[in-house]
This record gives sequence, C-alpha cells and structure tokens, in this order.
Amino acid sequence: MAILGLRDPAQGDWDHFRAIQYTGLARYSNLRVVTNLVLGLMACQLFSGYVPLWQLAGWMAMLGAALYFPTIVYRQSGMVNHDHVARRFVLQLVAATSLIAFVWCIPILVFAPLAGDLELATIWTILAALVVGGTLLLNALPLGAFLFNLVLMSASVVAYWQTGNMVTVGAITCFSILLALSGFENARGYLMFKLSEHGLAEKDEVVSLLLREFEEGDADWLWQIDASRRIVAASPRFAYAAGREASAIEGMPLTQLIAGKLWESGNLPPSLHILSDKLTKRESFSNLVVKVHGEDKTYWWELSASPRYDDNGTFTGFRGVGSDVTESRESAEKIARLARFDTLTGLPNRLQLTEALDRALKECEQWNCRCGFLMIDLDRFKSVNDTLGHLVGDRLLAQVSLRLRSLMGKDEMCGRLGGDEFAVVMRDTGDGQRIKDVAERIIDVLSRPYEVDQHTLFIGASVGSAHGLRDGRTVETLMRSADLALYRSKDEGGGRHNLYEPQLHSHAEERRVMEIALRKALEKDEFTLAFQPVVDAASESLVAFEALLRWHNPEFGQVSPARFIPLAEDARLVVPIGNWVLHRACREAVTWPANVRVAVNVSAEQLYEPDFVDTVVEALSEAGLPPQRLELEVTESVFLREGSRAGETLDRILALGVGLSLDDFGTGYSALGYLSKTRFTTIKVDRSFVQGAARGAQESIAIIRAVVAMADSLGMSTTAEGAETEHEVKVLRELGCKKIQGYFYGRPMSAHDVGELFIDHPSASYG
Ligand code: C2E
Ligand code: MG
Ligand code: MG
Repeated sequence: MAILGLRDPAQGDWDHFRAIQYTGLARYSNLRVVTNLVLGLMACQLFSGYVPLWQLAGWMAMLGAALYFPTIVYRQSGMVNHDHVARRFVLQLVAATSLIAFVWCIPILVFAPLAGDLELATIWTILAALVVGGTLLLNALPLGAFLFNLVLMSASVVAYWQTGNMVTVGAITCFSILLALSGFENARGYLMFKLSEHGLAEKDEVVSLLLREFEEGDADWLWQIDASRRIVAASPRFAYAAGREASAIEGMPLTQLIAGKLWESGNLPPSLHILSDKLTKRESFSNLVVKVHGEDKTYWWELSASPRYDDNGTFTGFRGVGSDVTESRESAEKIARLARFDTLTGLPNRLQLTEALDRALKECEQWNCRCGFLMIDLDRFKSVNDTLGHLVGDRLLAQVSLRLRSLMGKDEMCGRLGGDEFAVVMRDTGDGQRIKDVAERIIDVLSRPYEVDQHTLFIGASVGSAHGLRDGRTVETLMRSADLALYRSKDEGGGRHNLYEPQLHSHAEERRVMEIALRKALEKDEFTLAFQPVVDAASESLVAFEALLRWHNPEFGQVSPARFIPLAEDARLVVPIGNWVLHRACREAVTWPANVRVAVNVSAEQLYEPDFVDTVVEALSEAGLPPQRLELEVTESVFLREGSRAGETLDRILALGVGLSLDDFGTGYSALGYLSKTRFTTIKVDRSFVQGAARGAQESIAIIRAVVAMADSLGMSTTAEGAETEHEVKVLRELGCKKIQGYFYGRPMSAHDVGELFIDHPSASYG
C-alpha cells in the first residue's frame, strides 16, 4: 500500500521517501506526451473512414487536455524540489493518469464498433503499447500505471466481449494481470534502489562530516571499538591522548581505558555511566565529556560517535572522533572554584559556608540532630593591619586559616566570611559539648604567636556560637544568633567564647536603647565625675586625681564607663561627652591645692578631631588652670589609625605644657616604637601586671622592671594602676614604680568628697 501511495506507515518519513521515489517521474513526462499524441494521430488515421472528422478532432482535443492536466499538478505539488511530497499530490497525479486512460477508452468502445475486426485489433495493439510503455516508465507512480492498465484493458475486454471473441478476452485478462504484477515488482525494486542510493549518499555525508570536523582541528583523533567495546585499530594520536602506547590500548575495553585505576574498584564516575549507557543502547552521541583517569594524570575528553552495522545489519561496534578538552575544562573548574572559595586563604567563602549551613539545618530537621555555627573574629588584627600594612595582614590571615583548617574534624567546615571574620559549620554537635571544645581549641591555637616577615605577632580570637535548630531555624537567624554571641565575647574584651543565649537578643536591644539614652544624657545632666587619688610611691603624698566619668540613668541606673564609653565611641558621642569631662575636670582642679594635678582620660576619637588642641586650651583658660596641672591619658589605640596625625596632636599638647600619660600599658598591641617618638610624661602599668607581680609571676615582674627601666632612661615617670593591698604596694615600690593608684589609697570619690579631703588635710599629703 505504501509503495502504491495509498497509505503511510507509522515508521519513516514517507513524504521524504516519496520525494525520492518520484524524482524519476519528470524525466519521461515529455516523451509520454509525445507518444500519446503520435498514437492518438495514428488512431485518428485508423478510424478516418468510419468516424466523422469533427468527432475525431474533438477526441484529439480531449486527449490534449487530459495530457496537459498532470503538468499542472506537477507544478503545484512542488515536487520539483524533490524533498518532501505529500500523498495528496500522488493521488492527484493518479487521477490525472486515469483521466488519460478514460479518453483512450473512446476509440475502442465508441469508434471501433463502427469499423471492422482489423481496426479493433489495431486499436487494441495501440492500447497495449500504451499500457506496456506506461507500466515500464511509470514505475515511479505504480498506482497510476496500474489504473491505466485496469481502465484500458477492461475497455478492451468489453469491446472483445461484444464481438463474442472469448479467447481474446481471456488472453487480454492474463496479459493485464501479469503486466500489473510485474509493474508492482518493478516499482518496489525501483523504490528500494532509490532508497539505498540515497542512504549511500547520506553515509558519504557522515564520513565527510567526520573528516571535516577532524581537519578543522575540533577533533584530535578517530577511534573505533568492536561489538564487545574493545578498541580496534588504535591510532597513534588516540594512544598519545591516553598517554599510552598504541599496542597497549589495542583490544582494551574503551570504558576500562577511561576508568583507569577506578576500573578495579567499580566506583565509576557519572560521565562514564552515561557513555556506557549510550554504548549499551547502541545510540549515537556527540560532544560527550568524560573524565579519563590516566596512569599518572587525569584528562577530559570530548567524544562523538555513531554505531556501525555491516551489510547484513549486524552491529559491529562504534566509530567516532575525540578531542582533549582538559585545558578548557580546567579553566572552567577554576572559575567555579573562584566563586566558592576565598582567594586569599583558599578557604570556602561566605557563599559556600551558607550553603553548607543550609544543608546542615535541613539534615537536622530530618534526623532531629543538632548542628552548630561558630563565628570567629580576630582580636587586635586591625592594629596589625594598620601598623604593619596590608601585606603583613594578608600573610597573617593565611596563617590563621592554615591553623583553623588543621583543627577541623570530619563533619566540620571552616571558611572566611570576609575581613578578619571566619566561621565554622558543624554538621552534628552531639550533646553540645563538642561545640565548646572546638571553640576553646580555636581560641587557644589562634592566640599563639605568629611569625610573619620577621615580626612576631600576637593576636587573639573571639568566638560566638549557636546551635541549630534551637537558636535559629534558618541560615539568617542562626548566623545572627552566633553573631550576637560573638559580639558579647568581643564586649568582654576578646579571647573568649560565648554560646548564644536568648538574653543576647535583649542585650543587643538594650544596647540600642542605651545608645538612645546616652544621646540625651548630656542635656539631661546625667553625668558626674569621680576622682581617684594618685600618690607618690615613696612619700605617699597625694600628687594627682584621675577624673573618671560616671553616668547615672533613671532607667539603667549606674552604668560603668567600661560599658558606655565604647558605645559612645561607636555612636560618635564621645567627642561632646569628652569635652564636657575636660571642662568639668579643669573647673574642679582649680579648687584644689596647687601641687595636685588632674588626669583626664581621652579617647582616640577625640584626638582625631582637628580642633582638639583648641578645646584643651579653651578648657584650661575658661577654668584658669595652669597647663602643668593637667595630664591627658591616652591608650596605645590612638596610634593605630594610619594617617590620623595623632602623634602631631600629642606633640602640640606637650608643647602647651600639658602632661601626657600612656594608659593601660601592656594590654594593647604593644609596639615600643612610638614610646620613643612621643615623649610621654608617665607610663601607667595596667592592673593585670600589678596583680601578676604581687603573685610572683616572673613575666609580670620582668615587664614592670623593663617598663620602669625604659621610662627612667627616657625621663618618664611610671604609675602602677589598681593596687588593692599593702603587699601589692610593697612589691610595686620595690620594683621602682614612681606613683601608685588603686583602692588601697582610695576609690574614685565625688568632687564634694575631694573638697572635704582638703579641708581635713590642707597640706594635701596622703596615706
Ligand atoms: P582607666 O583609665 O584605666 O581607669 C582606671 C580604672 O580602674 C577605673 O575604672 C578605676 O575605678 C579602676 N580602678 C582603680 N583602682 C582600682 C583597684 O584597685 N582595683 C580595681 N579593681 N579597679 C581599680 P572605671 O572608672 O570603671 O573606668 C574604666 C575605664 O573607663 C577607664 O580605665 C577609662 O579607660 C575609661 N574612662 C573612664 N572615664 C573616662 C572618660 O572621662 N573619658 C574616657 N575617654 N574614658 C574614660
Ligand atoms: Mg585612665
Ligand atoms: Mg588604666
């Protein structure tokens, strides 16, 4: 049916097959028209004595029209481009052919009875010639040929039937049937021939395509495997790509060559599974990228291939092309790596950490376990960066990350969030003890000294941690909780670990509220000053008072300066508050005996103000206090901001005659360099060393000794802070400290109490 054009089977592109089938049709169409016309004229000649001329002429006209009809169909069908031919057009052509056949019925059915037996035999011969010729030439249109045969031979049978010549009727029938059968066979053979001719051309195309790809350099080698996937005819280029000898890979299964060492383990990479699958299903594939495990190196290959079959249709293996794409693949991997890793330290970056945390949280939800998130912030890192430069800072960070990485266990991932902030994701923290252990180990290990470019650097680490899902069910909330815990560790002076507690949220909230209250504290007159005596170590006479700020707020009560001063610094409130302290302290000090000085604490932020020196001058002149009676206390942090010109400001203050002390010496990032640059009047040794020395700690004793010796040689004085007991005072005196300040001699007291003191002891001696 398909060959006849009566039905399209489900499989195959029959429009296309038909186009191939009908390519031969046009070739003989002119010959067909001419033959028909010549035979038509012969028929007219035959019947010219029996049939009126006008009837013959009319018939010739009908024949001409019928012959013209297929040409129209032809033109409309677009068959001319030989690509796709719809069945509709084939049927139209068949109809046109049948029309010609019907026109040819007229001579044998209408004209022949008017003539004799000889004319009948002659016209049948003409029709037989037409049918035979049509069947032979129209094998591209078998249905047309068949109908042509059927119509004309039926007409012939009818004509001979009427004359009663039954033998001829039988002969014509046999002739017609045999002709139809052979015509059909012919058509089938013709189609098969055309199809295979086309197939060959297509194969040619595949080969030239492969060759072209090969020559254009996209492909590096040709490869071939047999039905059992073993490499055959391995080319030297193919062998080279695999890093082997051609003889070594000949006969080796392709998948084994690609899997390399993994072949034995059976643990094959996913790309190889895809390849195996294609080979098993005998499907062609193109540009399939596989990871090749060579003997000492891994490569990436891009393979394309199609299955091969022999003449009998038996599968004989695959043939294809391959190219080495290792380089481009590796750069693609590098880009992907860059997006997920921190370039400076090579640790996972924020993106990867949050993804890991997200996964850990989902696992906890599923398995009902506990995961952990630790935030780590380096203490005093900023000062290293500011004083020694970013290059040293970067190297330090690289060392920190190495140490951090060495602490990670199986289910833990550490990464860098940015700056000097690191984080750890723990997939399972068990009973919760593990998170504490890890945090403590991190603090311990990161706080050990670092050697960077001949500098020995001391930094510390603060850690805040939170448990999932308890302290947060999403990445954001858990990170915020850990951040709050970290904030608290920093607040407590660093070097500590805090677990998140719900109060921390309220703590953060409290800070916010406190900041609002602090903004109004000055105008509401909530600040007062307390004064703590400083005495001469040898004579125990009073030499100065340190002014210490006190804040009393109706809501928060008495707030420690250790708490609100950092807050004021963050909120940029410390400048107006500091100015108030300075004015107030000077006004108090003028009322004291002339040999008692006043020490005022000054924040780094105040010192960075361009008009700070003017403020000091104004406070002194307003109170009428001689500059020699004022001493400003600064900490090492004032030197930490690059380009702040703090040194210059300090020099100008010294030039006024105002004293300068270096407060809390030994607690910061002590670089002694600036001690020689700025001529401090006094170095104040921090309370922690005082306590240490009293306990007999050799380190503290050595430090105090060194400071005293250095101060002496530079013409500076020393004050020991926080002496609480007689024993401490004794030790400090022995160590050579010039002045002592501490609860042993007096706690910070109100201005009023100081005034009372001078009424009792006008000589201002103390002890
Ligand atoms: P600082 O300048 O080192 O002040 C000494 C601190 O040690 C004071 O705490 C004082 O009360 C305390 N102290 C003195 N002797 C002893 C002792 O024997 N034992 C103990 N345990 N503590 C002792 P305070 O008043 O809480 O001040 C804390 C810090 O707040 C000060 O440390 C200073 O850095 C800052 N501060 C205080 N007032 C001001 C101010 O007006 N401006 C600025 N910028 N900072 C201030
Ligand atoms: Mg002080
Ligand atoms: Mg101090």
